[in-house]
Amino acid sequence: MSLTGTYDEANIFAKIIRGEIPAVKIYEDAEVLAFMDVFPQSPGHCLVISKTAKARNLFDIAPQDLTTVMLAVHKVAGAVNDSLKPDGVVITQFNGAPAGQTVFHLHVHIIPRYEGVGLKGHGHGQMADMDDLKATASKIAAAL
Ligand code: AMP
Repeated sequence: MSLTGTYDEANIFAKIIRGEIPAVKIYEDAEVLAFMDVFPQSPGHCLVISKTAKARNLFDIAPQDLTTVMLAVHKVAGAVNDSLKPDGVVITQFNGAPAGQTVFHLHVHIIPRYEGVGLKGHGHGQMADMDDLKATASKIAAAL
């Protein structure tokens, strides 16, 4: 998918926002949702999205909505850092399929990194164990 086009209401994150499919949630308010990535590249990999902005990428989100998302990223990444005590944290955001984007609802990845532990592939591979994800989400949420 190119950088231009219309927002697809059937994308998987829109379905999560509408409650049509489950997510392991960390934090939610009226504007943002943070939840665990089901194909984590590293233990604790989570995502932050806007619940209100129908934006596919950085180029079609309103500045105020992006600000709201990034304030949530700051909060959740801090909780990831405090709770999981990684050696580093990667914050990424992809725009367009050639850049690596696979879900076309703007989202920010928070990926903890641990010394000597490699990253798994992006957006594929084995789905995480749901109980593990729930336990990690609880730890992060407790540090918010
Ligand atoms: P991107 O490739 O930047 O669009 O990232 C999409 C991310 O969403 C990938 O890291 C996927 O592992 C993740 N993902 C896909 N489906 C789900 C889902 N149902 N729940 C949580 N994360 C998902």
